[in-house]
Amino acid sequence: MSEGLKRVFGIDLGTTYSAIAYVDEHGKSVVVPNQESERITPSVVLFDGDSVIVGNTAKESSKIEPHRVVSRIKQHMGDPNFVFEHDGQSYSPEDVSSFILRKVVGDAELALGEKITDAVVTCPAYFGAPEREATANAGRLAGLNVRAILNEPTAAAIAYGLEQGEDQTVLVYDLGGGTFDVTMIEIKDRLIRVVCTGGDHRLGGTLWDEAIVMHLAEQFREQTGEESDPLDDPEVLNDLFLQAERGKKTLTQRDKAPFRVTHAGKQARVELDRAKFEEVTRHLMDRTLELTREMLADARAKGDDRFDKIILVGGATRMPQVRDRLVAEFNLEPETFDPDEAVAKGAALFGLKESLQEGV
Ligand code: ADP
Ligand code: MG
Repeated sequence: MSEGLKRVFGIDLGTTYSAIAYVDEHGKSVVVPNQESERITPSVVLFDGDSVIVGNTAKESSKIEPHRVVSRIKQHMGDPNFVFEHDGQSYSPEDVSSFILRKVVGDAELALGEKITDAVVTCPAYFGAPEREATANAGRLAGLNVRAILNEPTAAAIAYGLEQGEDQTVLVYDLGGGTFDVTMIEIKDRLIRVVCTGGDHRLGGTLWDEAIVMHLAEQFREQTGEESDPLDDPEVLNDLFLQAERGKKTLTQRDKAPFRVTHAGKQARVELDRAKFEEVTRHLMDRTLELTREMLADARAKGDDRFDKIILVGGATRMPQVRDRLVAEFNLEPETFDPDEAVAKGAALFGLKESLQEGV
């Protein structure tokens, strides 16, 4: 990096997880882990008296203390009527998002031992002007000089190195924790353009967790004969969701995952294998394919629905079922590379390129 040129960081301000990256002296994009040594930080904010806690600690109690915890604030971005009230204070979506940004930026500053001033922040391709303005504002509230608001699928394509390559059309299949976004992008003369975008703002990995939770509750009732519903107890519900997400990740690596349900003095042990997991979540996977076909129909109406490549973005695309079903549907092997870090990395690469062009 040349003297006087400011390092621009890339920030993926996600619905369920956020990440920050920069480009190192070798031109490689690198994610900066948070103070808990994790590469991505839950976008969950806990108001605890005078302090605001962001990340895993907040996430761990989200269902026990819903009045103090804010999750998925991104879904309210740009909504002037949304406020979170706590302790006589009102927080707008920008305010809440600025706490998430402060956490990822502050932790990265500690890890790197440098001050972070400039950032490119990403947002979904479907965000309109008010949502983008709110995103930029969150950055400013966090003390950042927001150099650009970049579309997530574009950032991902940059991280995959597609901008450098030949002209082509790419399907970006992004399954995160809270949303499913499917976008057709066109790369022409090293410029990326969003052709068409679709998806569902409620369909994400959390619903796969929920399907596991439902299955566990059913197994608990069968095994114990207990009449009262374990899901009515916020502590149990909270614990089951945390176990479900952990178990879902285990099922990405292994064929089986163990769970334990404790409620009303009774306990059930449940072992879930990948086949059963895929069965209880099949309707969700079907829905992503249906939405992909709908988006392609839109693309066809605009002129062309052919694509050369599929890239996977979002942590939930690590589930083997995603790759398997896409291959079965399109007869094309999707490319996958650090799917939950690609957006932050691409934003950092974009930031570097822009700053070189501007010379500031
Ligand atoms: P965002 O929703 O903020 O875009 P991410 O792209 O980080 O977030 O995706 C988060 C989702 O990915 C969560 O539902 C998480 O449980 C899921 N996920 C992360 N790693 C894995 C894995 N190894 N296997 C299955 N799901 C995963
Ligand atoms: Mg995302």
